[in-house]
Amino acid sequence: MGKNYSKMDPRSLHRSSSLNYGRSLNYEVRGLFNYSLSCCVNALLQSFSATTELLDILNIWHPSDGIDERNVPLQLRKALEAMRDISHSAPHKDFLNCLYRQAIRPSTQQDADEIFHIILNLSQKQMPDAAVAQEIRSLYEIKVETQVVCSKCEFIHRAPSSLFSLPLAIWERENTLKGCINSFFKLQKLPDSEKFYCDRCDEKQPSTHEMKLVSLPPILCVHLKRFRNDDGFTRKLFSEVTFPETFSTEIFAAAQSENADGLKADEWYSLYAVVVHIGTAMFGHYTAFIHSDQEWYYADDSCVRQSTWAEVRETYGESHRYGQRRTAYLLLYRKKSRNSTVGNTAALNEHYMN
Ligand SMILES: [Zn+2]
Repeated sequence: MGKNYSKMDPRSLHRSSSLNYGRSLNYEVRGLFNYSLSCCVNALLQSFSATTELLDILNIWHPSDGIDERNVPLQLRKALEAMRDISHSAPHKDFLNCLYRQAIRPSTQQDADEIFHIILNLSQKQMPDAAVAQEIRSLYEIKVETQVVCSKCEFIHRAPSSLFSLPLAIWERENTLKGCINSFFKLQKLPDSEKFYCDRCDEKQPSTHEMKLVSLPPILCVHLKRFRNDDGFTRKLFSEVTFPETFSTEIFAAAQSENADGLKADEWYSLYAVVVHIGTAMFGHYTAFIHSDQEWYYADDSCVRQSTWAEVRETYGESHRYGQRRTAYLLLYRKKSRNSTVGNTAALNEHYMN
């Protein structure tokens, strides 16, 4: 490594990364050349680069001299650093080769949510420093609990799990982000054909099924599930899904588990990156909108230009449809508090979710 990284206490970083960044999140958004249909990874790299907390965490790590160059977190860090260096002509080439060699096939149609998970999972799995791996996890981890209630003995069977993105089903009609979140956490009665084995009753029983929220991460990735598989045929839903630029974490209040960390009244999420899918399930292209320095930018591989929130909203789908059928696919929100020095409270009031 040609650079010396200052040693930081991961716990102190966690405290700051959980909410309040005292420094500017601004940086210059730069284009990325499309190598062998790398638009999906390119759009994700734009979102990872905008997640400045991620590079801060990776920079705590001191890789050993003999580390394998095919190490994903090593190449991710190098790519994110090189993206800050305008003189670097191919900041992400080694990272792409690293992914192509071990995780994904080049020149194929890719799913951005799947690749997002592959990159984050490999970044933890191949990270020799356990504390740093845990920091990467904590940055994105949504902790949930599945609660299955036996209709006969009323015992609540709990199963904790965690997610890196909130997978929201969408309807073939108008949707709102709030409506999709409410549906995700909605109580469902399982059909009689899917009776649940209750170990208390020692037999299969009718039951209800509910997802409960345990904790929200500093970075919330929302996955709008636009690809639906019907009888082995995948199609894309172009339905409208509106989403706000900012929203209060209060919208999760009803979904909280009894084991929840507890939501704070003064916290909200602010949108800073959108991974966009253009085209159909058979043939598509990925781009990204990035918010930096109070402005929106649009990154389409090598081309980066200034954009607006109005243009981001054109990715809602259907009625907002553009000729190219651009639709938001992954939404990245950063958690902030009212006391935060970063952020715009005027925008918060304007775009508050009702
Ligand atoms: Zn039971």
